[in-house]
Amino acid sequence: MSTVKCVGILTSGGDAPGMNAAIRAVTRSAIYNGIQVKGIYRGYKGLITGEIQEFKTQNVSNIIQRGGTILKTARCMEFKTPEGRKQAYDKLLEENVDALIVIGGDGTLTGARIFAKEFNYPIVGLPGTIDNDLYGTDITIGYDTALNTIMECVDKIRDTATSHDRLFFIEVMGRDAGFLALNGAIASGAEAAIIPETSLEKDQLAEMIENGFRKSKNSSIVLVAESEITGGAIGIAERTKKEYPQFDVRVTILGHLQRGGSPSAQDRILATRMGVAAIDALLDDQRNVMIGIQNDQIIYVPFAKAIKNDKPINRELLNTLRVSSI
Ligand code: ADP
Repeated sequence: MSTVKCVGILTSGGDAPGMNAAIRAVTRSAIYNGIQVKGIYRGYKGLITGEIQEFKTQNVSNIIQRGGTILKTARCMEFKTPEGRKQAYDKLLEENVDALIVIGGDGTLTGARIFAKEFNYPIVGLPGTIDNDLYGTDITIGYDTALNTIMECVDKIRDTATSHDRLFFIEVMGRDAGFLALNGAIASGAEAAIIPETSLEKDQLAEMIENGFRKSKNSSIVLVAESEITGGAIGIAERTKKEYPQFDVRVTILGHLQRGGSPSAQDRILATRMGVAAIDALLDDQRNVMIGIQNDQIIYVPFAKAIKNDKPINRELLNTLRVSSI
């Protein structure tokens, strides 16, 4: 039986829609199981400075539908140093917090892994990132909402693209992962996606144009994953203007639009399931794992696995986009 009496919860790194739903579920599930909850503000920064407050069920009322994170988030350089982490540990002892649940992306889980090892401290992670780039889980919290936002934006841009016979390169987020670009392209009926996973294998721009793209259409939309590897939408557009001057090229960078907004039903459900699972994991004496979901089943993924491995893109999707956009 677990000895956890008080759990701390924080959100860290980039915000993602559904983080609030996760905070709500963790809080309520902990209280349901007789565990006290402390909300830690501004990620690891608030852990070091002691921005900590006890959470009751009403602290998480009316937040399931809100984007962002009520706990705020921050990047924290001090946590990357042993001194900073020692301060964080002392604060947890002072506050009688005996386990942590962290919600964030790759960086957040990397910090959690180092901390957990250094102090032999129990941590459970939840994958909160719109990028969907964490290995071991089919989807991450925030990804579905961002995908829907991208789809709505591309639908709007298509009206202009069609009216003017233009070629639009639309840049979407993803850090070094092409999930948003590829699935965003399929969902919005875009002609192609330029993603980092395949950038080194082949020249995606040349392939797209040489394969007779625009044979049957006057306007076109191409989603480009932001990444040094792809060159981003601006890089691709500049190249196109030089090599294929016949096209009337435009660029849109969706930027932070993609992070915000009310979470989709899927993200709310995912975040709630994962939040409840995080407390179950602690009760089950699981340590240093990320909660993942595979084939609609909750699973535990060791931090090392989730962080170290690159999540592969499903190659079937590349073909689906190619075939559906002729
Ligand atoms: P994300 O979690 O969205 O990937 P970041 O990469 O910015 O976001 O990481 C969030 C925070 O996690 C950082 O500001 C830092 O406090 C902590 N972190 C990231 N990498 C490390 C590391 N190598 N060691 C310790 N802490 C880290």
